[in-house]
Amino acid sequence: MKKLKIAIQKSGRLNDKSVGLLKNCGLKFENYKSTLITQVSNFNLEILYLRDDDIPGYVEQGIADLGIVGENLVEETQAKVSYLERLGFGKCKLKIGIKKESNIYRLQDLNGKSIATSYPNILKKFLKEHNLQADIKLISGSVEISPGLGLTDAICDIVSTGGTLRSNGLKPFVDVASSEALLIGREEIKENQTFQELLLRIQSVLRASETKYVVLNAEKENLDQILNLLPGVKSPTIVPLAEEGWVAIHTVISEDDFWVKINQLRNAGAQGIVVMPIEKIIM
Ligand code: ATP
Ligand code: ZN
Repeated sequence: MKKLKIAIQKSGRLNDKSVGLLKNCGLKFENYKSTLITQVSNFNLEILYLRDDDIPGYVEQGIADLGIVGENLVEETQAKVSYLERLGFGKCKLKIGIKKESNIYRLQDLNGKSIATSYPNILKKFLKEHNLQADIKLISGSVEISPGLGLTDAICDIVSTGGTLRSNGLKPFVDVASSEALLIGREEIKENQTFQELLLRIQSVLRASETKYVVLNAEKENLDQILNLLPGVKSPTIVPLAEEGWVAIHTVISEDDFWVKINQLRNAGAQGIVVMPIEKIIM
């Protein structure tokens, strides 16, 4: 069978997590920084290491069958590819930033202003949706210095903590789009058996990373109250302990409300709580 090719970022913010995800799927491959392509030894797959900007286009043209890339780039390049899975990492926001002292207060104040960005298409769409007319200046890097140099009134760029904005005398004004890493491919790939197998593995890893395996001890008289706190679980495993009147409960808890849940369980009488990471959950 033909080998599938997956394109991932060669170096940068998405590289580590992309490599980590594939390794957690049980794929074996060398991860040399100097190579552009590696073979997975135990799966019908090749990995291409590319600049992230090139990934949507390569997938659209079929040079790569699959890609892992930020939603921001897929939207910006307008590549005709399918979103196959949201991967939960590389989360960031595209924001418009303005000078700390600025006469821009409301969205309408952007009318007639100039905005520097490397994301002209996403920005154009946002301005259109809000009926705004601003002058977009395309800049490929270091967008944040543009207002300070007197080049533009505002910028539109990826912001995570806002540190880069602040150090350039800017402040966030409005969110334009959110992004996370996506698995992309052409629509036809959905029929491919190797892809389906890989997707199953990826989904199992993602599901597992969102949950923890928890074992706790409780007196039987507290059992009902504790089970009430675990509504998501169809039937937790309940095992009697050597000590009369005590049981151990095995269950999984979602990462989201983890500490809240653990505290509620303690208050309900749970003791000796052991929490373990889950490697995979296969449905
Ligand atoms: P390349 O050399 O591959 O072109 P790059 O410098 O364009 O890399 P990175 O800065 O590595 O890109 O970011 C890659 C992607 O990571 C972004 O497109 C975005 O989807 C995501 N990302 C997540 N958090 C951030 C952040 N705080 N700043 C920038 N990008 C982020
Ligand atoms: Zn890039």
